[in-house]
Amino acid sequence: MTATVPTTTLDAVALRSQFLILSQTHNGFPITYLDSAASSQKPQAVIDAIRDYYERDNANVHRGVYSLSERATDAFEHARASVARFLGVADSSQIIFTRNTSESINIVAQSWGRSFLRPGDIIVTTVMEHHSNIVPWQIVARETGARLEYIGVTDNGYLKLDDLDRHLASGRVRLVACCHVSNMTGTINPIDQIIARAHDAGALALVDGAQAAPHFPVDLTTLDPDFYALSGHKMCAPMGIGVLYGRRELLESMPPFLTGGSMIRQVGLHESTWAPLPDKFEAGTPDVAGAIGLGAACDYLQQIGLDAIHAHEAALTTYAWQQLSSMPNLTTYGPPPVDRGGVIAFNLAGIHPHDVGSILDQDAVCVRAGHHCTQPLHARFGISASTRASFYLYNTEEDVDRLIRAIRTTLRVFGKAV
Ligand code: PMP
Repeated sequence: MTATVPTTTLDAVALRSQFLILSQTHNGFPITYLDSAASSQKPQAVIDAIRDYYERDNANVHRGVYSLSERATDAFEHARASVARFLGVADSSQIIFTRNTSESINIVAQSWGRSFLRPGDIIVTTVMEHHSNIVPWQIVARETGARLEYIGVTDNGYLKLDDLDRHLASGRVRLVACCHVSNMTGTINPIDQIIARAHDAGALALVDGAQAAPHFPVDLTTLDPDFYALSGHKMCAPMGIGVLYGRRELLESMPPFLTGGSMIRQVGLHESTWAPLPDKFEAGTPDVAGAIGLGAACDYLQQIGLDAIHAHEAALTTYAWQQLSSMPNLTTYGPPPVDRGGVIAFNLAGIHPHDVGSILDQDAVCVRAGHHCTQPLHARFGISASTRASFYLYNTEEDVDRLIRAIRTTLRVFGKAV
């Protein structure tokens, strides 16, 4: 590989001081955290925002008439506005707080899917999806008599867009559900084209943005998906808070998924009516602190700059890829760095990924091992598991060097050439 390594303008070494967790050691080694695709670490700004909320503003939202509750409500809605700004959405009532990407997609499947899908309708998803963008569609297809069809994946980890066109030509496709970035191959999909083709054929487009929104600028006004789902915990925010963005007319036409408190306009003994957006889809007491943490994370990432974060990850991915792809006894999956996010899944010949992960952990290198909730994609490559390293704004070239050293150690332990 002779590709030049892109340059980074982001000072990751300085940024690391804002992530106290990374200053720890394990087995005498500094922690090399390469599992941000599963969950990112949280900067002090986010931890402080959550702590400040509990220390100063904590009360239930949208209920109290007293000033503390009003302050909590203001902070909660301010957070929603930060998320909307982050995603380029003018109307923050289109931002629904959920628990995570999985819940966001389930809301669409259970609310829109059960109301609007008819027998013979087609839902198109891809072989590349996380299980959370497959299983909800399997269930709703079974419940409604709709059919689930797939876009295949090439040997190099790209979507076979001809499959999409073939399905769309049937005239029966109602929804295309596709990830923006794969959490295994790292492939950055041409999501603008996929959305446009779905719309041209009269279908809706749902985008799983879990691996995209944390890493590069995502402007939903320009992209124009019908639904966009993401998880806070992958973008410097706490676990337990996520987002479903939806087109206003669609959200208004959809019945609520969870029901009960906070989501009603009027309740009678036998009939009820629903609150306007976004409350209709936020039954019960929300994770106010989580939302405030997510708002703070959006502000934090925007302050650093999503373009700078993307360039930094591209530099690290290229640097890692150049070394990994020339190593004997190592197989990588997916496209070259130019078409991928900061995720590299690989296998070492004859060594189970769980063993790789455990040996890397002895050097405090934290990676993911397993199927990463992408069993169909692993099956596509003829494997059942892989080891995955993923990069974020706080990773450095030194982290990549430690990864490469630990992989060489693992190969030696198993008597393999390095
Ligand atoms: N989609 C993708 C692409 C993901 O990477 C993940 C998390 N690994 C999910 C969906 C599910 O996210 P969560 O567990 O936060 O619901």
